[in-house]
Amino acid sequence: VTAPGGPVIPGPMLGADLWRQVTAAAGNRCECRGQCGRKHKDGQRRCIRENAPGTPLHAVPREPAPDHAAAALPASALHALCGPCDTALSSIHAKARQAASGALSAVESLF
Ligand SMILES: [Zn+2]
Ligand SMILES: [Zn+2]
Repeated sequence: VTAPGGPVIPGPMLGADLWRQVTAAAGNRCECRGQCGRKHKDGQRRCIRENAPGTPLHAVPREPAPDHAAAALPASALHALCGPCDTALSSIHAKARQAASGALSAVESLF
């Protein structure tokens, strides 16, 4: 129990209070609805993983943002994802960025 005004333990990227707001708003459940690319058959496309000791949900930006920008986002701009969904979704975003730069160089090579 922390006294009001006591020290706030920061998470890896976000404050603990912000993390609590995001995961509470999500009902302590992963908010992925298949955007990570996994099928989530058990939850009918919705991931059914819940916040648990040892495998806490991640509070991540709804839209990809650089770390320094993500750290300043309010709870409403974040959603809760389980570790596997977060990892899968980040790699999709990374591939999309690569594809975008690849498409650009393909266009450039036409000329
Ligand atoms: Zn998930
Ligand atoms: Zn997912």
